[in-house]
Amino acid sequence: MEQGFTEQARRLVRGQHARVTTPRLRVLAELLMAGQPLTHLDVQRRVEGADDVDHIDRVTVYRVLDWLVEAGLAHRVAGPDRVFRFSAQAGAHGAHGHFRCTRCERMFCMTETAGLARVVRSVLPEGFSGDAIELTVSGCCADCAAS
Ligand SMILES: [Zn+2]
Ligand SMILES: [Zn+2]
Repeated sequence: MEQGFTEQARRLVRGQHARVTTPRLRVLAELLMAGQPLTHLDVQRRVEGADDVDHIDRVTVYRVLDWLVEAGLAHRVAGPDRVFRFSAQAGAHGAHGHFRCTRCERMFCMTETAGLARVVRSVLPEGFSGDAIELTVSGCCADCAAS
């Protein structure tokens, strides 16, 4: 675990005036480091991958992920397989769309939200107002396109 992400996680949890616990720091730091939405299983594997620390069981990982969403430090997005992914990507807490790569099956937050909101507003019927955007674009990510 890179120290920078743990420190960033500590600052974010403290910013919520919440108790700083090891599982909260570990899970949030993993999400920050990943920079893309992860499933509970992905998070669990990454947390288990670190051998220098106490074991964090899967129920605790679930609880921490839920807490992060409630605290506004992460958001949840259902993948095409209907499994939730969790993302702590900075700047991705407003309404935004997601991209799903059909080759590597990863998901990405599309954080350029101003343009997306403008497009969505322009397609809403007269008199309607939207306040949440759930949009997933499927295709090929830059990594896969380059390989
Ligand atoms: Zn890909
Ligand atoms: Zn997102």
